[in-house]
Amino acid sequence: MMKRFFHIAALAFAALLLTACPSVEPDDKGGSDGKDDSWRKQASTAKLSGITYQLNVYSFADSDGDGWGDIKGITQHLDYLDSLGATALWLSPIHESSSYHGYNVSDYESVSAKFGTEADLKDLISKAKARNIGIYLDFVLNHSGIENGWFKAARSDASSPYRDYYVFSENPTADVAAGKIDNYAGATSPGMGQWHAVSSGDIGYKGRLHFRLDWSKKTITVTQTTDAAQSSNGSASKWLYYGDGKLAGLYETGSNLFEITLDFDSSWGFLIRTSTTSWDGGTKWGGNGRGLEFGTAYSINNSTAADIIFGGSSVFYFASFDQSMPDLNYGPYAKASESPAFKALASAADKWIRMGIAGLRLDAVIWIYQNQTAANVSFLKQWYDRCNSTWKSNGGSGDIYMVGEAWMDNAQQMAPYFEGLPSNFDFYYGFTLKDRINKNKGNDFASTITGFRNAYRGYRSDFIDAIFLSNHDQDRFANDLGRDLAKEKLAAAVLLTSPGKPFIYQGEELGYWGTKSGGDEYVRAPIKWTRTGSVPAKALGGKVDNAMLSADISVEAQQQNPASLLRVYRDFAAARNAWKALAQGEIEAVASPNNTVALWKMSCEGQTVLVAHNFGNGAPVITLNGYTTDKLIVSNGTVTAANGSLALGPYASAVFLQ
Ligand code: MG
Repeated sequence: MMKRFFHIAALAFAALLLTACPSVEPDDKGGSDGKDDSWRKQASTAKLSGITYQLNVYSFADSDGDGWGDIKGITQHLDYLDSLGATALWLSPIHESSSYHGYNVSDYESVSAKFGTEADLKDLISKAKARNIGIYLDFVLNHSGIENGWFKAARSDASSPYRDYYVFSENPTADVAAGKIDNYAGATSPGMGQWHAVSSGDIGYKGRLHFRLDWSKKTITVTQTTDAAQSSNGSASKWLYYGDGKLAGLYETGSNLFEITLDFDSSWGFLIRTSTTSWDGGTKWGGNGRGLEFGTAYSINNSTAADIIFGGSSVFYFASFDQSMPDLNYGPYAKASESPAFKALASAADKWIRMGIAGLRLDAVIWIYQNQTAANVSFLKQWYDRCNSTWKSNGGSGDIYMVGEAWMDNAQQMAPYFEGLPSNFDFYYGFTLKDRINKNKGNDFASTITGFRNAYRGYRSDFIDAIFLSNHDQDRFANDLGRDLAKEKLAAAVLLTSPGKPFIYQGEELGYWGTKSGGDEYVRAPIKWTRTGSVPAKALGGKVDNAMLSADISVEAQQQNPASLLRVYRDFAAARNAWKALAQGEIEAVASPNNTVALWKMSCEGQTVLVAHNFGNGAPVITLNGYTTDKLIVSNGTVTAANGSLALGPYASAVFLQ
């Protein structure tokens, strides 16, 4: 008998089915509606595979009308987060900070007044916990903000105890070569970042200067001059960079000689670049850690590549990111936990763990020791053990959840980070999904992500694979999919039927789009809660696509629209939370008879589900030997099933209980 299902009807049908796993009757709504919420009640299982919602505190919800999202705003919208099946919330950094996004932390033990008070945070933790939703704080261990009291004390006084919290050097080139920079962990090049002068002296210059670069000797000679200034050479191969997008192309005046006379103006000095578009691959040439003297040849290099400054201070600090984020120094990695900076950060983390947070998200962990995996893994083990010990002494159940942002080139490179942390973000999951949907190729999806999981398992048997589509540092997944709603629904359905711990990024569930080309703010847009209400956009300084934030994309509109993307998220989240095999089962690829169809099964404690997704815009009909299609748990798009046969409409998804 042919059965025809549409996604709205499917969940009610699922509620009729009883199996051994989960041990309680599945909840057909997946929310706090008074019914048993099945396995999601258990913190340990939520930690392993529960849905987490990533939110930007500054742009999620504003409780007091000041235009900034805040902590009370989150508390006021717990119903919404519950309706998405969330078991945890990852909050963007909440501490005092000199930047809107919070990654320049001024005080790790504070709650930024912009976001509320400690009492507000305690209230959120407690009200979320009542719904079995944990709070994960974003913790920035690689660097602090330049406004942090530690750094202010360190930069102004060479004898300050805080000097040791950061990476200072009077001669970076020599100190790196001599292996004295613990942060480099033996590397000769930082991979990313540079040295910045401590601005106690006159390190910049304003006036007319002549620059003469001798490329064979790798020296530059700068002289003050009254000769006529030249315009930039647009077809140059060597460039002078002096900040705020200011680039001057040098003129080749002889064999390996490049010169220009310029009206120069920079508060920090300059660098030489061999590319106008890239900073990679040794294209940035900088100083040796000393101030330049006019008229004297000055050596440049592309390893330490410190800012070339004009006299003044000769003390430098290192920053992996920009100069407003000085890197923290944890000393030799094997005994990082003995360093003063580690102890101070751990003490701050203790405060939040004792307050009742459920975990931490660790920012930029590959740069703690400059992309030196063994050193970073050693550090992360020490950090995790320290926090977990506080967690346990505070009465926490099991082990604390902690997820690292170890953004490497591929899954195999990232895998060793599972030795350091129980969970890491799986960037490669999202990259693969985007690639396969855009190629209309589904038949190797399950085997590909199984390969990733096998790589992770090699480093930790109980690894937690933090899967996601995109985050606050990436172009929106909707853009990657050509802003095609059917593809976005498919991506949502795949994410929530995959093994691992899925993260949903603020606005993804509403179909938000945006790219970083005009600024990161465009991928961090505020939630449009109601058709006509205002949005918390003050943090974003006007970089908001108001055309996107239309009435129709609002939460209010999408809740009322049975065909909305939000409804697909809710349906699949509810199914995941109701069927343990779907959330916690291990994936096993099923051979697909059609190139566009992804097929896998997941099993847990005797319960098995078959997952089918059509990555194409055709309507394949496939034969399924050995699987039943009688019991549909959840679906999206057009799904027509009979025993042994399954027809999937364009970008359709279906999950069948076996
Ligand atoms: Mg506010």
